[in-house]
Amino acid sequence: MANPKMKERKPLHLAKLHVHKGDTVLVLAGKDRGKRGKVISTAPRDGKVIVEGVNIAKKHVRAGVGVAAGIIEKPMPLQVSNVMVVCTECGEPTRIGHDRIPIGADQKPRTRRICKRCGKPIEEHTRD
Ligand SMILES: [Zn+2]
Repeated sequence: MANPKMKERKPLHLAKLHVHKGDTVLVLAGKDRGKRGKVISTAPRDGKVIVEGVNIAKKHVRAGVGVAAGIIEKPMPLQVSNVMVVCTECGEPTRIGHDRIPIGADQKPRTRRICKRCGKPIEEHTRD
């Protein structure tokens, strides 16, 4: 049975975002419009991102096993269309372009993101 509250999710092969985890983004809409923050996680199939310190919801938590009662502040997901990637080179919010060049030790052609303002590649977040 389909839950009517569930929004349609994109098939995996179509789910691509211009925003990646670790990017700094500028928020364009909503109560936190104008704020900048770091992307904590992305949900490509839902077209959503979670940004540090943005769209905070207060959640009241009941005491449980090993959990104290209280109010938890949790960032809620934002629509990707409402954020803009901030370029790691020029520090300005920008649209994203792509190009394919041979990078890395094996010189395989790989796609990278390009800042539409300064034309330099956007730095990717390295996994820790
Ligand atoms: Zn730039």
